[in-house]
Amino acid sequence: MPPSNNHGARDPAAIVILTGAGVSAESGIDTFRAADGLWEQHRIEDVATPEGFRRDPALVHRFYDARRVAVQRAEPNAAHRALARLDAEWRGDLLIVTQNVDDLHERGGAKRLLHMHGELLSALCAACGERHRWTGPLGDGPACPACSRAALRPDVVWFGEMPYPMERIYRALQRCDLFVSIGTSGAVYPAAGFVAEARASGARTLELNLEESEGSALFDETRLGRAGELVPAWVEEVLGAEEG
Ligand code: NAD
Repeated sequence: MPPSNNHGARDPAAIVILTGAGVSAESGIDTFRAADGLWEQHRIEDVATPEGFRRDPALVHRFYDARRVAVQRAEPNAAHRALARLDAEWRGDLLIVTQNVDDLHERGGAKRLLHMHGELLSALCAACGERHRWTGPLGDGPACPACSRAALRPDVVWFGEMPYPMERIYRALQRCDLFVSIGTSGAVYPAAGFVAEARASGARTLELNLEESEGSALFDETRLGRAGELVPAWVEEVLGAEEG
């Protein structure tokens, strides 16, 4: 589905891409909800909610410290690299919104990127709100480099918390001509609602996923397969159509 301009004045078309854990699966990073409902053998309520953190901060720190180590050992895959190529070569507006907390999109070379659920390689001070790039553990209670109070937590948006720059994301969705969802189950809101928002603005919608998702019926087209194969093929199609 090469993008066409639906909104008159702008040329070339504006694209918004939403990615989820499936885009990093072929880099060896587990997706969110396995069939047993657990994330890396943990209950989601225990490791991905503010209540879980209050109840057992040591467990939550151990969990994210381990994810931080794993992510730094992983490498971007063909899907990350293809999206970076699109970012470099697409002359129109483009915004890649990722739900992923890994840094594989940016290491693959993507620039027009937003992390709506935060980043593993970042620490947030619950006292002063500063965000700090963080590659080591947080479980040993390091003090915030800005305010010196030992209140650092993973800079990850947990269930019940507000994702990062929603205003900017909704603005892009309302202006886009094509919305593409890659490797996401469509189960986590507000991201799961983006396809409806884009449709309401007149955009065409494409889903690339391993299997049908909860939102598949909302897309104009769904292609099933591995992101490492589907995404490079789609990017080739889009850039080829632009040249032609
Ligand atoms: P999810 O686990 O709910 O869904 C992943 C989707 O990807 C599934 O529909 C699955 O069929 C599909 N998939 C699996 N392997 C694939 C492949 N090789 N190619 C294409 N698709 C594939 O993930 P989600 O929808 O992103 O849900 C979200 C939450 O999980 C987010 O909030 C995110 O912060 C968190 N999370 C992030 C990471 C990461 O940063 N890599 C990893 C796990 C969880």
